[in-house]
Amino acid sequence: DSIQAVQLGELLQRLVVLMQPDAIKWNIQIRLHLQKDLVVSGSEEKLQQVFLNVLRNAFEAVQENGNIDILLYEDENQAVVRIRDTGPGIPEDKLDNLFTPFYTTKEEGTGLGLSICQSIIKAHDGSISVRNLPEHGAEFTINIPRVTSFD
Ligand code: ADP
Ligand code: MG
Repeated sequence: DSIQAVQLGELLQRLVVLMQPDAIKWNIQIRLHLQKDLVVSGSEEKLQQVFLNVLRNAFEAVQENGNIDILLYEDENQAVVRIRDTGPGIPEDKLDNLFTPFYTTKEEGTGLGLSICQSIIKAHDGSISVRNLPEHGAEFTINIPRVTSFD
């Protein structure tokens, strides 16, 4: 599980492809908005785990007939990934609990997904946060310092 240059756009693209069969099955459109690829330094495997967790949660929130939008862009030397869905969103008084271990609203949930995501992102000197969208649904924002290659 080594530290390497991770191309986030490429990683996200692969995850979208991976989720296509489920997306088709449940009539959920996954849309990836990439301006350009951005590179961060870290564990590709761990970062993949983070995005998969957040995407799975988005799927479970939407259930069927909706959208999941993934945005990747640069902001002040940070790579920013936003994952938003058209699910029901999160009760305002529960927003703070989401990253707490064992907090779950699912019958078969472990409540560990987001707390693990947060540890992984912190280990990459980044941050993860969540808010409700004005219209509907939840949006997770992940910031990770980007690296510039000098070639
Ligand atoms: P689990 O998925 O096992 O419940 P997580 O840590 O991944 O555990 O998520 C914790 C809780 O956060 C979920 O049970 C759910 O209530 C809430 N949650 C996470 N993502 C979303 C989302 N996209 N929309 C609405 N609620 C969400
Ligand atoms: Mg989960």
